[in-house]
Amino acid sequence: MPRCDSCGKTVSLPFHCQYCGKNFCDEHRLPPNHACAGLAEWKKTPAPGVGLRYGGGGVSAYGGGYAAAPKGKKPGRLSFGNIPYLKILVAAIVILLVVLLFLRLTGNLPIS
Ligand SMILES: [Zn+2]
Ligand SMILES: [Zn+2]
Repeated sequence: MPRCDSCGKTVSLPFHCQYCGKNFCDEHRLPPNHACAGLAEWKKTPAPGVGLRYGGGGVSAYGGGYAAAPKGKKPGRLSFGNIPYLKILVAAIVILLVVLLFLRLTGNLPIS
């Protein structure tokens, strides 16, 4: 029967520490709980289980980014609405000028 290297308790399914290579009970499986020799390394690269828990924080951070996204979209939508309006205005002025020029060239402009 394998024993926990920290408390000496016999464990049927010990947790193998990938940083110091020893076996631990589920109470002492995390490097900070068994004064792990590879604790510094563990802090640098969290174990997969710990990384998953950090993933929750990542999700909330992503949520914050999502909340900020509509904020950035609003001014974008406003300017997007302004561009066709300006284009229509410019097109109307150009058409008016062309019509005036055409009328002037053909001599049909009433006010001359
Ligand atoms: Zn233990
Ligand atoms: Zn360890």
